[in-house]
Amino acid sequence: MSKQDLILLALDPAPILDLMDRALHAAGYEVARASDQSGLNKSVQEAIPALMIVGEKFADRDGLSISKDMLERFPTLPIILYTDRDSAELAKSALKLGLNGYLYPPLKTADIVDEVQRSLSRGRKLGDWLRHEVKRTTSSLAEKAQISEAERNKLEAIIANIQDGVIVVDSNQRILFVNRAIREIFNLNERELTGWFLTDVISNADLKALLARSTEGPLKYHEINFDDGRVFNAQYTPIPKIGAAVTMQDISYLKELDRLKSDFIHTVSHDLRSPLTSILGYTELIERTGPLNENQTEFIKRLQGSIQHITALVNDLLDLGRLEAGFDTRREIVHLEGVLKYSLDMFDAQIKGKNLQLTQELTQTIHSIRANPIRIRQMVDNLIGNAIKYTPNDGAIRVSISMQEQQIILKVEDNGPGIPPEEQSHIFEKFYRATNVPEGVQGSGLGLAIVKSIVDSHQGRVWVESSKGKGSSFIVLLPTQE
Ligand code: ADP
Repeated sequence: MSKQDLILLALDPAPILDLMDRALHAAGYEVARASDQSGLNKSVQEAIPALMIVGEKFADRDGLSISKDMLERFPTLPIILYTDRDSAELAKSALKLGLNGYLYPPLKTADIVDEVQRSLSRGRKLGDWLRHEVKRTTSSLAEKAQISEAERNKLEAIIANIQDGVIVVDSNQRILFVNRAIREIFNLNERELTGWFLTDVISNADLKALLARSTEGPLKYHEINFDDGRVFNAQYTPIPKIGAAVTMQDISYLKELDRLKSDFIHTVSHDLRSPLTSILGYTELIERTGPLNENQTEFIKRLQGSIQHITALVNDLLDLGRLEAGFDTRREIVHLEGVLKYSLDMFDAQIKGKNLQLTQELTQTIHSIRANPIRIRQMVDNLIGNAIKYTPNDGAIRVSISMQEQQIILKVEDNGPGIPPEEQSHIFEKFYRATNVPEGVQGSGLGLAIVKSIVDSHQGRVWVESSKGKGSSFIVLLPTQE
C-alpha cells in the first residue's frame, strides 16, 4: 500500500466524516474533503484521487449519480458508497454501476480501513491489467506496422528492380511511381518525378496513344516503338482507388525474330515463283508436243491445278511480305462501290454456280478514299471470295457500303457456318484456318491476314461478328478523303 494514496471524501458534514478522516489518516493515507459539487470538481482537477468515498446523499445530489459522472471521467477510479442504512436495493444499484465497496453503520475504524484497502487493491489490479492490455495491444500493433513496413519495402524493392518497366499514375495521370527500368527505357535521369503529368515527362507518341486509348476499356496491349529500333509491349491496367499502372516488356528480340522469319518466307517465295512459272509453261507445252491419251490429259490438268494453287500461295506470301514491309505506298482516288461492282462481276459465275442469293446495298452517296486500287480490290475479293467459299449451296450473301461520319463501312455478310467465338480472334493471323472449315474446302489461311494488312496500311479497321451456325459478318472501316 502506498502511503501517498489520496482518498477523497464526498460526504456531508457528520460525525462519520470525521471518523473516516481520522481513521484513514491514522492508516497513513492522504485525505481530502469536498464540501460541495464545485469543491469535488476542484479536488479532482488538482489531483486525481486513488479512491473516493461518496455519501448516498452529498451536497443535495444523489451519490449514485455523482459516482456515475466520476466513472465516466475516470473509469478505473475505485468508489465506495456510504449510506446511513443498509439497503439491498441500494447495494444492487451500486453494484450495477460498478462501484467497488459499500459501507454502512455501525462502523469501526478497522472496517473503514479494510474496505478502503480492499477496494484500492482491486482498483490497482484492474489498473495493472488495463496497462498490461494496452501495452500488449500497442506492441502487437507496432509489430504489425513493422511487418507491413517490411513487406512494403520488399515489394518496392521487387518492383524497383524487375526487368519490366512499371509506371503507376493517379486518376489524373500524374506519376505516383516509376521504377528503374522505366528510367533506363526512356533515358530519364534521377530527378524526382512524383506528381508530374506522365505526358509532360515522357513524350513518346506511342505511349501517349496508349494513354489516350485507356478510356476505351480495361486492359490494353500496345506496341511502343523507339527510333533506335527497340520495341516494347505495353499494358495499361486500371487500379481501383489508385489510378492505373503501365507495364512495359522489351519485345525487340521477338520483333527481330519475326522480321527474320518474314524475310525468309519472302525470299523463299520469291525464289519459288520463277521455277513455278516455268513448270506451268512446260505442262502447257507438253500438250502441244503431240496427242496425249485420256489419263495423261487428266494428270496434266491435275498438275496444272496444283501448280496454280502453289503459285497463288506464293503470290499471297509475297503480297503479305510487301504489305508488312510497308511497300504499299501507292495512293489514288478510289471509289469503293466501283471496286465492289467489278469484284462481284468476277464472282458472278461462282455465285450462280452455288445458287447463292446475293443482296447489294448502297445506302447513300459514298465518298471516295485515297487508296491503292489493286490492294482494295484484293481486300474486297478476299472477303467476298470467302463468303462464297464458306456458304453452302442455296445460301445468301449480303454486301453493303454505307457512310458513318467520315468513314466508309463495308459489310460482307453470309449465312454460312459461322466462326466459333474462341477462334474469331485468330482468323486474321497468318496460316490460321478455323475448325469450321468444311472438309475439302481449300485455302491457305492467308486471305484474311492480307485483308488485315491492307486495311491497316489504309488506317482502317476490320473485324468479324459471327456466331456458329448463324453466319458471319466481316466489317471494314476505311477513312474517306475528307
Ligand atoms: P482460308 O484460306 O482458309 O479461307 P482466310 O485467312 O481467308 O483463310 O480465313 C481464315 C479462316 O477464317 C478460314 O479458314 C475460316 O475458318 C474462317 N473464315 C473466313 N471467312 C469465313 C466465312 N465467311 N465464313 C466462315 N468462316 C470463315
